Amino acid sequence: MTAKVIDGKAFAAGLREQIKLQTAAMIAQGITPGLAVVLVGEDPASQVYVRSKEKQTRETGMNSFAHRLSAEAPQAELLALIEQLNNDPAVNGILVQLPLPAHMDEAAVINAIRPEKDVDGFHILNVGRLATGQKAMVPCTPLGCLMLLRDLLGDLSGKSAVVIGRSNIVGKPMAQLLLRDSATVTIAHSRTRNLPELCRQADIVVAAVGRPNFVQGDWIKPGAAVVDVGINRTDDGLVGDVDFAAASQIAGAITPVPGGVGPMTIACLLASTLTATARANGLPDPEGLTP
Ligand code: NDP
Repeated sequence: MTAKVIDGKAFAAGLREQIKLQTAAMIAQGITPGLAVVLVGEDPASQVYVRSKEKQTRETGMNSFAHRLSAEAPQAELLALIEQLNNDPAVNGILVQLPLPAHMDEAAVINAIRPEKDVDGFHILNVGRLATGQKAMVPCTPLGCLMLLRDLLGDLSGKSAVVIGRSNIVGKPMAQLLLRDSATVTIAHSRTRNLPELCRQADIVVAAVGRPNFVQGDWIKPGAAVVDVGINRTDDGLVGDVDFAAASQIAGAITPVPGGVGPMTIACLLASTLTATARANGLPDPEGLTP
């Protein structure tokens, strides 16, 4: 069997078109969504991500506000900037690019963002809201994975899913979203026993490990959906957490790396910015952009 290759790039492009239309409709009502992105330091990968976020924000018609602080900036300076953005009505979404320099307390910084503007969905209130089934801002990468899975499979109810990885930014929120869609979810991590066996039972495998080609082809149940979140820079270029060549012979559908989950993340950031703007203005949630 040869798997359907899920085209995340095309899906994200379609999503951005939808967002563009919905943004134009909001602007026609006198509301221009605005996203503020804060970068601390000069980490090259973060600079690339931030530039890409700014460009795509402007392309959808939203306002993009960029703020750059030096790597040595004291935490108080960052917190003061966040407070200013919290109080700025033109700013609907605030994203602080991670990782932060070692002298900063990441949790304190994230929790200083007003939860309604926390488009990354990392604020503790949003984490709690997601876990308790309340209206939340949801982390972008898992939201992108969920959209791809729903598009592929429709109703996820009763499907068995294994999420490999338990980070706060991918694994845990991914598991929460799948659970919310009534999948039966197993969260695996570095202490999990019999991981290949667990995966072989799963209709859905989401890999968010950070190890190149970690998930083997013979771990996959024939016909399963495989979502590869991993981005690993190797001598052979960018590779995912799944051995794509082998897994794609067995899976029913699989995301490639690059071109799978990656492009969905920024598209979902824009979706969340639009959602935050709608909520701030007492409008209904935008169609098709929330979990
Ligand atoms: P983390 O390093 O925070 O988490 C990795 C997880 O994998 C941990 O929970 C860890 O378990 C688990 N793990 C490590 N080794 C094993 C093992 N041998 N068996 C089972 N589980 C294991 O990574 P992130 O969640 O931040 O990111 C994961 C990957 O996704 C990375 O490649 C990252 O680059 C990519 N990524 C991609 C994004 C995108 O836009 N496409 C966005 C964000 C991340 P334990 O907790 O026990 O240590």
